[in-house]
Amino acid sequence: MAMRVLVIEDEQKMADLIKRGLEEEGMEVEVSYDGDSGLNAGKSGNFDLIVLDLGLPGKDGLEVSRELREAGHKTPILILTAQDSTEMKVKGFDTGADDYLTKPFAFAELLARVRALLRRTQDEDSTRLQIGDLSLNLINRRAIRAGVEVKLTGKEFELLEFFMRHPNEILSREILSDKVWGGTFDNLTNVIDVYINYLRNKIDRQFEPKLIHTVRGVGYTFKAPSSESRMIAETKAS
Ligand code: CA
Repeated sequence: MAMRVLVIEDEQKMADLIKRGLEEEGMEVEVSYDGDSGLNAGKSGNFDLIVLDLGLPGKDGLEVSRELREAGHKTPILILTAQDSTEMKVKGFDTGADDYLTKPFAFAELLARVRALLRRTQDEDSTRLQIGDLSLNLINRRAIRAGVEVKLTGKEFELLEFFMRHPNEILSREILSDKVWGGTFDNLTNVIDVYINYLRNKIDRQFEPKLIHTVRGVGYTFKAPSSESRMIAETKAS
């Protein structure tokens, strides 16, 4: 699937140049010409990367970056700045931006930084599952909720990984026994309930909001918190 990039830049020429260049690399690009519409587009969550000019009509780039982060959006942000001042860069990083580029720049350098940022998030995606304040590292098999490491046994880990790969789906005991245990339901129904209990004790009991929910008579569901509750959870964690 094509990477989707949001360019927030008020200079039409510059915006068009970036758009055309990135499109030639197979990316899908949308442009916002002012801070307010850029912020709204960024909040849609439809983008893999945001290229953000600092000097913008309406909200400036620093405000856009700050508001996106405050709303819980983690989309990588590459800041474009005319000022090559350390102070400006520090301010940019402070708001949650990931990288910066000083104007004027060579397109090749912009492209290299865009690729590096996209690669970074892709790598993370394939080695880590994150829902709300719960993250599961698939390489070292560590689970962390709200900054606290949760020790899981092998089967608990597999069960949690399956839940996190199917958030908000209703998962019957039949499905869990088949996908997580590779066994038949008849022999496993009690085993599954026992493991769900273990897992709840570890990842839910001392945390809010609860992630694993019982669907009476059917099975279980792993509820991804809304972005609002995710933000609250992050605030609590820090
Ligand atoms: Ca500008």
